[in-house]
Amino acid sequence: MPTRSFFDIRMRGFRDRAEVADVVRLLDERVRSLGGEAVAVPEACGRVLAENVRAEVAVPGFDRAAMDGYAVRAEETFGAGPYNPLELRIIGESLPGRPFAGRVAPGQAVRIMTGAPVPAGADAVLLAELAREEAGVVHVSEAVSPGRHVGRRGEDVEPGRTVLSAGRVLRPQDLGLLASLGVATVHVIRRPRVDILITGDELLPVGARPEGFKIVDSNSVMLAALVKRDGGEPRTLPLLPDRRELIRDAMRASVADVLLVSGGSSVGQEDHAPSLLAELGELAIHGVALRPASPTGIGFLAGRPVFLLPGNPVSCLCAYDLFAGRSIRRLGGRCPELPYRSLPLPLESKIVSAVGRVDYVRVRIQDGRAVPLAVSGASMLSTTTIADGFVLVPRDSEGYPADATVTVYRYDDI
Ligand code: AMP
Ligand code: MG
Repeated sequence: MPTRSFFDIRMRGFRDRAEVADVVRLLDERVRSLGGEAVAVPEACGRVLAENVRAEVAVPGFDRAAMDGYAVRAEETFGAGPYNPLELRIIGESLPGRPFAGRVAPGQAVRIMTGAPVPAGADAVLLAELAREEAGVVHVSEAVSPGRHVGRRGEDVEPGRTVLSAGRVLRPQDLGLLASLGVATVHVIRRPRVDILITGDELLPVGARPEGFKIVDSNSVMLAALVKRDGGEPRTLPLLPDRRELIRDAMRASVADVLLVSGGSSVGQEDHAPSLLAELGELAIHGVALRPASPTGIGFLAGRPVFLLPGNPVSCLCAYDLFAGRSIRRLGGRCPELPYRSLPLPLESKIVSAVGRVDYVRVRIQDGRAVPLAVSGASMLSTTTIADGFVLVPRDSEGYPADATVTVYRYDDI
């Protein structure tokens, strides 16, 4: 992309804005999942498997008792009943980890506990409740069928089975299963490292009190939390004033998988980020048909995606979720779609939107209805804390009348 045209744009406004759908398509084409890394199973919860995991062993590796009782030869119990008890001689016991070494011959039984190996010769476990033991003899008062209360070798996992597939976000029980298979490390997709660069002469660092004409940077904490939610590793760089050389140096120095720049993304005099990105790398998109967040820029620096997010906090959130978050989720091998649960709800009052752009409308949910809060007001972050979620009005829509059913994405329902 020629650099000059983007210098030109300052103080002139956007010539034309990219469609949201085209931006998404561009990102999906150009952002691919990162490579894998080995991680110890206990550390792997929530990580994304980079390859299939196949069982190399059977679980369990032996036939085992599923109940406490007596290991018997089932056919010998046929015909046993309360009025016809049969007797088997107890020749030993099998405990978990301490199997009975011998073989169960006709007329014999072995006392056995849950989880213990079923001894050779036996093929069923008679429940302790259905037998009476006395002086080394067990009195059987009910027949058991072959295989009864025996957990067969491989009944949990057969060797050779693919137990977990690439792309799986590992659950706690997955880690347990991996451990049971003797797997110590797994290959997971590397977490995207995300640098967060906050710019603005008017900003005070997080933790400061707003004072005079200064405001406190709220975007860095919000973005860092969003990046973590999406499986990335955020790193917040030192806050910078709107000084071109400083921003250039910081952009150039970043070697993270993704760079987020907040502030100065538009066409104002002090908006350096777009022209800097064009100068240092590629500014693929500048200006999106999206409200809020139209002054969003997207490009690449040494092949890594860079997102120029508007400083207005609501726009920043919206542009992050729709574009940056999508790419971070994709880099990390996660589902790229919005991570919010969505549900259809009737509208309490109408939403007006202009054809030609997507609107991000904050809504409250009251009595099962979506109450629109605000379409504009990109600077008012509290609209997103009062809201329960948002509605995206498509590009070609003029909005919705009251009672229309809309899709609400819920902030809390991830
Ligand atoms: P800008 O995108 O730099 O033009 O900023 C747009 C608006 O967002 C201005 O009112 C800024 O003061 C405000 N703003 C910029 N950066 C931040 C930030 N990190 N936290 C909160 N507000 C910001
Ligand atoms: Mg600014």
